[in-house]
Amino acid sequence: MAAPLRVLVTGAAGQIGYSLVLQIAKGDVFGADQPVVLVLLDIPPMAAVLEGVQFELTDCALTTLRGVEAVTDEKSAFTNIDYAFLVGAMPRKEGMERKDLLAANVRIFKSQGKALADFSKPTTKVIVVGNPANTNAFIAAKYAAGKIPARNFSAMTRLDHNRATAQVALKSGVTIGDVKNVIIWGNHSSTQFPDVKHAKVNKGGSETDAYSAVGDSAWLQGPFISLVQKRGAAIIERRKLSSAMSAAKAACDHIRNWHVGTPAGEWVSMAVPSDGSYGIPEGLIFSFPVTVEGGEWKIVQGLDLDDFAKAKIAATTKELEEERDEALAACADSKQ
Ligand code: NDP
Repeated sequence: MAAPLRVLVTGAAGQIGYSLVLQIAKGDVFGADQPVVLVLLDIPPMAAVLEGVQFELTDCALTTLRGVEAVTDEKSAFTNIDYAFLVGAMPRKEGMERKDLLAANVRIFKSQGKALADFSKPTTKVIVVGNPANTNAFIAAKYAAGKIPARNFSAMTRLDHNRATAQVALKSGVTIGDVKNVIIWGNHSSTQFPDVKHAKVNKGGSETDAYSAVGDSAWLQGPFISLVQKRGAAIIERRKLSSAMSAAKAACDHIRNWHVGTPAGEWVSMAVPSDGSYGIPEGLIFSFPVTVEGGEWKIVQGLDLDDFAKAKIAATTKELEEERDEALAACADSKQ
């Protein structure tokens, strides 16, 4: 058996953390033959809850789980890790302005970026789930630079991707496995653009495009997009809690594909640092269609964008540039 991977989950005492740690521990992400040591980080007031999660993981008696460490300091958390799931973030409190939320998160992700540089490996790979995920990833990458390349930082748009895939499957009357290559462009926010123009659906044994399979262009260009964009809010309205189970599953899908690769002819959506593809400013953490081979992602090139897509992508780019500029201003203000 391979040497254990050391996997950090921050915010591990939270809702998403609770679903996520079991999936990682039982081999859903790195495989049934890959042992893992889980490192759980949360803030000191959550230490007892974290210990409860640690006890439960131990009690799961999993052959793949070679250790669980529950910690509340960054040095213990970030030392020698192979993967980091950065889930913990400052939640929006009532009356809080977007600017204040961003500033609070900049402090967290600046500090974690530095901890990655100080204690992690040059090969450590990072997924940011905590919102605003793209911008938090941008800040963490900025402060880990020099030690860890920017391309090892990503933000999660896989939940949006999975939501779009599921809706196309439902509307086309096929199963999930029959739908591939939807795309989420941009920010993990309500400006994201779920795009099915290049998606393929296997219907009745032959492959067709999603527009033909769904047979309702007006739905795909209107209600479908807002359904995916607002799905999180719809779940909170019904469950009175956010979509933690599906978010955790999506984080696992994201890292699994980064670790083992994407199937031939298929891509997934990941927010990664732009290299200027599709005119997106370099360095912005932007969700693109990517393929993965040998642990390295590559942005899918040469997809045709019509005026509808270009306008949607421009709007989400503008939002991300504004967030980036606000976050950089907050970095300059914060002394830590
Ligand atoms: P959750 O586990 O529900 O959410 C954690 C983060 O994931 C939030 O920023 C949330 O954003 C984000 N998120 C992204 N996508 C989704 C999605 N689809 N559905 C729900 N959330 C999504 O939050 P909890 O409050 O239950 O737990 C957070 C934990 O993090 C707490 O235990 C807290 O103590 C900890 N924390 C740890 C820190 C650290 O380790 N340094 C720092 C700050 C907090 P949104 O708020 O927009 O829903």
